Amino acid sequence: MRLKDKVALVTGAASGIGRESVLLFAAEGASVVAVDLNDEAGNAVVEEIRGAGNTAVYVHADVSKSADCKAMIDAAEKEYGRLDVLFNNAGIMHSADDDAISTDEEIWDLTMNVNLKSVFLGCKYGIPALQRAGGGSVINTASLVAVMGSGAPQLAYTASKGGVLSMSKELAIVHARQNIRVNALCPGPLRTELLMKFLDTEEKKKRRLVHIPVGRFGEAAEMARAALFLASDDSSYVNGSTFLVDGGISSAYVTAE
Ligand code: NAD
Repeated sequence: MRLKDKVALVTGAASGIGRESVLLFAAEGASVVAVDLNDEAGNAVVEEIRGAGNTAVYVHADVSKSADCKAMIDAAEKEYGRLDVLFNNAGIMHSADDDAISTDEEIWDLTMNVNLKSVFLGCKYGIPALQRAGGGSVINTASLVAVMGSGAPQLAYTASKGGVLSMSKELAIVHARQNIRVNALCPGPLRTELLMKFLDTEEKKKRRLVHIPVGRFGEAAEMARAALFLASDDSSYVNGSTFLVDGGISSAYVTAE
């Protein structure tokens, strides 16, 4: 039980990484606050957790909205009396996000608000709660594209994730002596809804797989296990890290046959 007696809030909990993380965190003993916009799928994952005899509550929030972020943190403290783990994970990749020439300003603003401002707001209201608890762990989901450019353009997404990574580093330093660790989880390409809706043909998938040393996409459950490590005391000396979980892509020049 690696999160016994801990309270963990996870955004984007209705799908993909967030969904796998709330299931795993709860199984590891955490009381979980599952946050999303998708109430049906969010409530369903909470039911699944409770069905397994574990503890969770669903909170509706649009993480790009200040009032919603304040309310989700308030809900965690009201329900469970404290907050120990804050996993700012919700994010979008818009189909109209392209290169600098083609991307509309409103797509840029939407992506920045959901992917980057949300992490600021989560920390703005969440870090005081961690301070009240005597410390804790913040995990912010960035991406492999925070450290490497993508030839399949998604400029706003890439820039937003770069912002998440650099913000995480500064937060890690500012709060280090308050017993608060902050790390950026940087997944490579995953077999989740977010990416697979773009790689919707075998040909597109094959073209992407060429660049992945292990020869397959990552699974949301593999990201959840990395997040569990960052959330738990197992990672007590891991702070400010660019926590790449990418199947080796960021180390590859040419992949092996
Ligand atoms: P997903 O689409 O499966 O899940 C994202 C969840 O976030 C959904 O449940 C959605 O309803 C929720 N969400 C979206 N906007 C929201 C908002 N404004 N407020 C609250 N909830 C909102 O995606 P995923 O693959 O699990 O991605 C999770 C995170 O991982 C994202 O930040 C994404 O950018 C990042 N990431 C994904 C990949 C990948 O290949 N899938 C790679 C690197 C990083």
